[in-house]
Amino acid sequence: MTITLSGRTRVVGIMGDPVGHSLSPLMHNAALQATAIDAVYVPFHVTAADLGPAIDAIRRLGLVGVNLTIPHKEAAFRLVDELAADARLIGSVNTIVNRQGRLLGCNTDGEGLRQALQSELGLQVRGKTVLLLGAGGACRAAVVALARAGAAWIGIANRTIERAARLTAEFAPLLPGTTFAHYPLDADLGAGLPGKVDLLVNTTSVGLHREAFGCSVENHVRADGCIYDMVYGRQPTALIRRARSLGLPAADGLAMLAAQGELAFALWFGRNPPDGLMKKQLIAAGSAG
Ligand code: NAP
Repeated sequence: MTITLSGRTRVVGIMGDPVGHSLSPLMHNAALQATAIDAVYVPFHVTAADLGPAIDAIRRLGLVGVNLTIPHKEAAFRLVDELAADARLIGSVNTIVNRQGRLLGCNTDGEGLRQALQSELGLQVRGKTVLLLGAGGACRAAVVALARAGAAWIGIANRTIERAARLTAEFAPLLPGTTFAHYPLDADLGAGLPGKVDLLVNTTSVGLHREAFGCSVENHVRADGCIYDMVYGRQPTALIRRARSLGLPAADGLAMLAAQGELAFALWFGRNPPDGLMKKQLIAAGSAG
């Protein structure tokens, strides 16, 4: 890919620590080229100590905006001028939009998940029962998106059960259309559940390094249910393999990564990237490695 810069080229990027592994520059620059927008997407290695000045630099350098990745999503929440409704509820920001020097904090992870569930698994969330594994930032985004999309019941199972309990206590009054429950993420999980669920979503980092859950989480899914794993890699994760061995439809986090990127791109540039282009770039990067 050859990128031509001009005196008018605008800059957008991603701040993280580390950031070198990020596939976002690849998919965003491909989309910028395909749409002939005179802008470039660059990685910024920003430590936690430098996040405040780095966010101020968005204003001072007139950047279009940035994505935030580990570990900056929660800290950025407190450093922007305004928050979009989803970001306010989720409590973190993965996209900043520079509106003439005022920074709007958005979170496209939850809506990215909802779109991925629809495109990869054909799942409409309304009325469904969902078991979320994990209770970190990705889980918060999932809770907000799935409850807003009409999930009837959301169970949150986490290794540290107190964290799951805090999440259910926080979200139950804010999202009254959905019933919430929390569980330990261990062999006792099944004993507490009211029944098998329509959808299981892994929002933990289990699987990033090819590890598996210590208990058979896939057994808590109905025979006509499905599994979404936010983790992705060159090989299917252990959870995806287990799901497929049970005949359950399953998909990994690649489509969510592409969808959250498409949503950020639209926020910055007011138009959508070509349909499926970002996902195609991610798949090509995986198979090239
Ligand atoms: P986080 O806030 O650090 O939360 C991590 C979660 O994983 C916690 O619930 C933690 O449980 C759990 N966990 C970690 N190691 C575990 C283990 N060995 N066994 C059981 N649970 C374990 O991280 P996050 O921001 O939510 O991100 C979580 C994952 O989602 C990451 O892998 C990230 O790459 C992925 N993600 C993907 C996308 C996408 O677009 N596909 C977007 C966002 C995030 P404790 O509370 O007990 O520590």
